[in-house]
Amino acid sequence: MSTRPVKQSPGFDKIERNMRPMCLCQWGFLGYDRRKLVEILTDDQGTVNSLGLSHEMIANRLQEITAKARQGLGDPVVVDDKFDVEVYEVRGKIPCPWGHPGLYRKSHVKLERIETGETLIWSDLGIHLIEEHGFYQGRGSPYRLEPADIKRILEL
Ligand SMILES: [Zn+2]
Repeated sequence: MSTRPVKQSPGFDKIERNMRPMCLCQWGFLGYDRRKLVEILTDDQGTVNSLGLSHEMIANRLQEITAKARQGLGDPVVVDDKFDVEVYEVRGKIPCPWGHPGLYRKSHVKLERIETGETLIWSDLGIHLIEEHGFYQGRGSPYRLEPADIKRILEL
């Protein structure tokens, strides 16, 4: 993890304020993470690079699994003979904290790798945040995704 100070633009300060708890959603996107948004992004970018992955590869895989699991209409679905995946849809929609037009479904996707019992959870907005912004959310956020966990569990 990088410890050197990274300069953050005023635009990022504004987005970061939108992400702290009690702003746009009940839990916030940053959890207990006290790092600046730009530091979180820089650290995760470094990790993703060192794993030999890209945000797009990760987002595409999550998207693909979500689409397969949606066919279960709320019941668990076995995806690729390896994963037990359940999608819960919650009423309502949520905007991207970057201020993009459009709203994302309040979904909650839970994946369990059958062989190991390891789990990952994510949401539709979470996939967008990874794909468009390289943002895996802050430590302590319930939707934080560690790139190394994604690689190991999903065998990317
Ligand atoms: Zn966005």
